[in-house]
Amino acid sequence: MKELEERIAAEGQVLPGDILKVGSFLNQQIDTALLGQIGREVVRLYEGEPITKILTIEASGIPMAAAAGMFMGVPVVFAKKHRTSNVDGSVYSTVVHSFTHNEDYNVVVSRDYLTADDHVLIADDFLANGHALRGLIHLCEKAGASVAGVVIAIEKCFTGAGDALRAEGLRIDALAPIESMSSEEIVFRS
Ligand code: 5GP
Repeated sequence: MKELEERIAAEGQVLPGDILKVGSFLNQQIDTALLGQIGREVVRLYEGEPITKILTIEASGIPMAAAAGMFMGVPVVFAKKHRTSNVDGSVYSTVVHSFTHNEDYNVVVSRDYLTADDHVLIADDFLANGHALRGLIHLCEKAGASVAGVVIAIEKCFTGAGDALRAEGLRIDALAPIESMSSEEIVFRS
């Protein structure tokens, strides 16, 4: 998506540890016009697909998932990061390793909001090593929900995680796929 790639090129900051900071328009301050364009692009990509729900993970996946859900006319569910896994049995739970905090945490979603009747579109802001995404897929499997595909705002293609999941048959659309990045240059996959 040209508009997103242009913003990343203009304002993205590459920090040590292969972290891309996009706080000025996507992660902390949110450019709502750009978010609207992202939402419409997600709708265009999945036109004709009978999506019932968009699933993301708190916190930074929520804005783009909400924008897409609004234009698609479907509910958005976000998995929560919890200390406890499943105290009263009311949630599906899995363990995810955090890229940004380098620790494991439980991710839970209520059994009321994800069911075997759902055809789910997964959305997140970043795909790095694929841990968050695999966790969300695992929650869908536990609920018996089918996964239509995955939309990612920014994929760090150089990790290989996205391509490994594609090779397993998963549909993944990245709006801004980054082939390589350094403090001097960000190169997008064409
Ligand atoms: P993964 O689980 O694929 O390794 O990482 C994905 C999660 O880590 C995303 O939900 C995102 O919040 C965070 N993340 C991964 N890489 C970056 C990055 O370069 N910048 C920012 N801001 N978040 C990232």
